[in-house]
Amino acid sequence: MLSLDANPETPSHSASTDSVVHAYVFALDPTPTQQDMLQSHCGAQRFAYNWGLAMVRAVLAQRDAERSYGVAEPDLTPHVNWSAYALRKRWNEAKPAAAPWWSENSKEAYASGLANLATALSRWAGGRDSGMNRVRRFPKFKSKRSRQSCRFSTGAFGLVAADRRHVKLPRIGVVRTWESTRALERRIRAGVARIRSATVSFRNERWQVSFSVELSGLPPAPRGRRIPVVGVDLGIKHLAILSVPIPGITDENGFVAAPPDVERATKKLRRLQRRASRRCGPDRRISRTPSRRWEKTRAEMARVHKQLTNARKDKLHQLTTRLTAACESIVIEDLHVAGMIRNRRLSRSIQRAVWGELRRQLTYKAGWRGTSLMVADRFYPSSKTCSGCGAVKTKLRLSDRVFRCGDCHAELDRDINAARNLASLVHRQDRTSAASCVGTLNKPDGNPRKSGVMSAMGTATGRPPRSTPRSNAAAV
Ligand SMILES: [Zn+2]
Repeated sequence: MLSLDANPETPSHSASTDSVVHAYVFALDPTPTQQDMLQSHCGAQRFAYNWGLAMVRAVLAQRDAERSYGVAEPDLTPHVNWSAYALRKRWNEAKPAAAPWWSENSKEAYASGLANLATALSRWAGGRDSGMNRVRRFPKFKSKRSRQSCRFSTGAFGLVAADRRHVKLPRIGVVRTWESTRALERRIRAGVARIRSATVSFRNERWQVSFSVELSGLPPAPRGRRIPVVGVDLGIKHLAILSVPIPGITDENGFVAAPPDVERATKKLRRLQRRASRRCGPDRRISRTPSRRWEKTRAEMARVHKQLTNARKDKLHQLTTRLTAACESIVIEDLHVAGMIRNRRLSRSIQRAVWGELRRQLTYKAGWRGTSLMVADRFYPSSKTCSGCGAVKTKLRLSDRVFRCGDCHAELDRDINAARNLASLVHRQDRTSAASCVGTLNKPDGNPRKSGVMSAMGTATGRPPRSTPRSNAAAV
């Protein structure tokens, strides 16, 4: 049902070629005491981060001030070394005074905050963010409202093998999970998986642990015959539309059904949003605090959001796993087109998020299974082209659910037509020159460059987006 857990979330290739790092996420069911401890550890992580940031900021400001008085460069207050190691060393010297209560939490909590700070500072010092092409800002202090998380990279953590329903965390102890940890436990026992670190965080109103697991050996390539090429189009009423129906994934026409409760939950959400708008929300301009009734509606909204997200996520994982196993190559549309134009009923941001997530999952799962993934250029008129004869319509309204070709009089569902056009791009790409290809895929969430080439395609090697020190650090 609504289980998102135990899905590999942030995969990344590690240095050696035949091992990959997967995240195994389990929702936790901590006791009240354990909840307090989890919260305390996350608070400690934040405290150490802010402590380090304040120190670095003070030194930088001091140096600036000295410079403005004309102090020579060698006589300035010495630089702080902001490597994780150096920060930790300083913290250990300062902690008895700065945080006399430090021994209440595992030292890993502070180390995790300082490691995050080191990453943030070195990113800032590195200047421009290559992926997004914008200038990195100086790190900000973390507030109590920022995401609570804490990473353990040494100490006693792991699964409790006996009943497969508990995980072990340093200091916090043995915590019950909502789901069985069997899948991971088996792999560990077989010697193909090794847990590298554990990150606890509070998301969507519940605690979870994410194990970063190194798997040796990629999953074996799927056996049997695979479908040569499938075009995937994102629908409004359906989760996706495939150019060819695949048993077990779609119905007989190629439609992948949306999770059944999405429609209902969306309606409920809309009702709750209206209700919240009638209640007394927070207003910064007049520093009004929200009413208790507003908070209540808000909490209910968060719960519905969580259900929706989980249902969608689960469904997406099923789709992408099966799709990459069943097909040789997959063609999808650019995020931009899909997100901006298609959608009237669901909220745009949700649709965009779904599309981005679909693409992200397809990218890394295609890499595991040797499936090739291609992204159609955003100016390719997949909806307006006839998949039978190739004639392009000048106008096609969103309300036209059936595509009728003026040339060959073909009639078929609008989305199926679009999916087939996407699939046919594979053949066309063989004929287009390399110069007209726009590589877009290795940045699954990025905003690809504009291109005037109508049918240009991006090809993907199917490797995961970034090799990520980020996946570890950003999860925190
Ligand atoms: Zn036609």
